[in-house]
Amino acid sequence: MSDAEFPQSTEPTVQDDFEPVSVFEDGEMDLRPGADNCYKCSVCDTTCPVAEVDDDFPGPKFQGPEQWRLKRKDDVEVDDSIMSCSNCMRCDDACPSGVPLSQMHNTARGEYVDEQMSKLSREYVRNRILANYGTLARLGSKVPRLTNLVMGNSLVQRLNEKLLGITAERDFPAFATRTFREWWRERGGPQVQSEDKRVAYFHGCYSNYNTPEVGKAMVRVFEEFGYEVVVPRQRCSGTPMFANGMLDDAERAASVNVSELSDLLEEGYDVIASCTSCSMSLRQEYPELFQLSGIEEVAANTYESLEYLRIHEDLDGALADAAVDEQAFAYHAPCHARNQGLDRQAVELFREVDGVEMEDVGDSCSGISGTYGWKEEKYETSMKIGEDMFEHMHDAAGEVGMTECPTCSMQMEHGTGYEIKHPLQLLEEALC
Ligand code: SF4
Ligand code: SF4
Repeated sequence: MSDAEFPQSTEPTVQDDFEPVSVFEDGEMDLRPGADNCYKCSVCDTTCPVAEVDDDFPGPKFQGPEQWRLKRKDDVEVDDSIMSCSNCMRCDDACPSGVPLSQMHNTARGEYVDEQMSKLSREYVRNRILANYGTLARLGSKVPRLTNLVMGNSLVQRLNEKLLGITAERDFPAFATRTFREWWRERGGPQVQSEDKRVAYFHGCYSNYNTPEVGKAMVRVFEEFGYEVVVPRQRCSGTPMFANGMLDDAERAASVNVSELSDLLEEGYDVIASCTSCSMSLRQEYPELFQLSGIEEVAANTYESLEYLRIHEDLDGALADAAVDEQAFAYHAPCHARNQGLDRQAVELFREVDGVEMEDVGDSCSGISGTYGWKEEKYETSMKIGEDMFEHMHDAAGEVGMTECPTCSMQMEHGTGYEIKHPLQLLEEALC
């Protein structure tokens, strides 16, 4: 029937007394900071490298504020697409409203793994192994040559892919014959003592087991500037654990790190890291996810190593007189460096150094995102994301890459065949 058959009354309708409906039953809004600002925005979705190449991935806005709203009454399960987020944290950096996206993603991923993932599934076992790389590396590095031989064998790689879902497309990162900590012990610890200039080095797993030359460069450069460097007992920063929803593992590691570093803060040390994901973890993810005594102080006093020198020393002045052999670098800024506002520092620092040519290869994500690109089912996505970076590297003048992140470095090498260096290694060459 049309409205014409029911002419509208011109008489005002008599209404019952207005009774508001209670939307939030407990009377509390309970909205996390900024989470309501995004009804008309989707900036984060436009910056997500996974959403760009994977049409099935609903993007950061869904993984964060939307999923959080759906789950408010606990009658909806976490969507399994949360496991396709690579934890690159680019969405955090992009959000104009301060929505704590990565905190929401990490919390949702932790809940998904705890409550919805079978602990006997191949995915869980594989992810647990990848997330606890530090434990694996501690064992493997006891017999580095044998481990490298076994893990480098193509048959073992294919078996790993079949049994665990770890891609056989990538070369296993070789263990150094002597870890950074072994080198540190053998040289007798710090060579410089200072009451005023003190730093505690958080080397993380990769610099310790795979690229000790980065840690050695860090020590030599800081000692050159008169710093007393100490190397505290430490565990993994937790980055691969957050990315795989293993929050209990991450909290155990964080509690060791925070306790050791807190003691050193009291003695006047600041914390420095050579890996941008490690500094990101200590600065942002720890205080977002855990409540540990001293956690805020550790976060507030942690720096990326070049950042620290740029704040406290005249690094430009020191480099003005430096010269190195002619070298051209294709520099990639890791996403986690970008999130800390450090994406331009290596280029700014080295562009005037005699003999150095530095080219920034753009703002794309490398695509590996720690353990993400090691998963068989994510390998293709990871390589598609990395395509822009590979092309820009090929177009750049240099045939040596540079980055601060160990896994970006693996992806750069994998996609181009280039040798990859850490900025600290060039700084060591220029200054020491
Ligand atoms: S960028 Fe921030 S405000 Fe915009 S949709 Fe994403 S979370 Fe919401
Ligand atoms: S962390 Fe990275 S992959 Fe995950 S939703 Fe945000 S931008 Fe996308």
